[in-house]
Amino acid sequence: MSNGAVIITGASRGIGRDIAIGLAEAGYDLALVARSADALEQVAASLPGDGTYVAYPGDISNWDDAMRIVKEAHEKFGAIHGLVNNAGVTQDGLFMRMSKENWQLPIDVNLNGTFYFTRAIAPIMMRQRQGRIVNISSVIGLTGNAGQANYAASKAGIIALTKSVAKELGGRGVTANAVAPGFISTDMTADLPEKVQADMLGQIPLKRFGEGKDVAGVVKFLLSPEASYITGQT
Ligand code: NAP
Repeated sequence: MSNGAVIITGASRGIGRDIAIGLAEAGYDLALVARSADALEQVAASLPGDGTYVAYPGDISNWDDAMRIVKEAHEKFGAIHGLVNNAGVTQDGLFMRMSKENWQLPIDVNLNGTFYFTRAIAPIMMRQRQGRIVNISSVIGLTGNAGQANYAASKAGIIALTKSVAKELGGRGVTANAVAPGFISTDMTADLPEKVQADMLGQIPLKRFGEGKDVAGVVKFLLSPEASYITGQT
């Protein structure tokens, strides 16, 4: 039997795909979102378990796409247990050289995209009197980082958004939490210079980079019955 349906953005690769694998193993039906339709279909076809996995191609930084996808997923699954706002981008550059366009991209995708999907799902979850929202922030949103002022601001914004939503929706049985991973080996981090990667590794107590499944385990917990009294947390 299904544990309910969960929408995951950025499910075509990286951490989002690993979250999809973890949630499929845990018995959830999944609505998979990203821009690349082919990659999403491949993920949907390869997932374990016997749930229903549906690809919803779209751009999370587009309000109309977000509204359409949430509506279609709601119609398909009848109820939505969880939303995992995972899709995200970096556009690194030193602050003194940062153009308006470079500033804008992570804000549009990471922060606005998280707002759009949360805004679309909120009335549905409030009517259900049940729902779990999990937003993927970053440790950079807590610490800041040279060369990532735009990304850091978007990820700190996600934490503040999460805490506010938790306060407004908690009375209707809806929780909202953020997850702030450190360095996770994916396409996003593969391009960082070796020196930067070595410096980061030196600061990691466990002396290895994280993997998508390390994040997936936390997300799975936050969607589980055991986490029903946790909200507004990072
Ligand atoms: P990734 O491998 O680059 O994957 C990013 C995912 O987001 C892809 O599925 C991509 O699919 C999707 N995406 C990007 N822009 C989108 C848009 N406009 N609309 C819809 N989907 C979009 O990145 P990742 O490392 O897995 O990161 C996943 C999340 O974890 C991000 O929010 C990231 O900030 C966060 N995070 C990552 C790390 C790390 O070290 N990797 C650390 C902390 C936090 P398409 O290209 O097909 O759209």
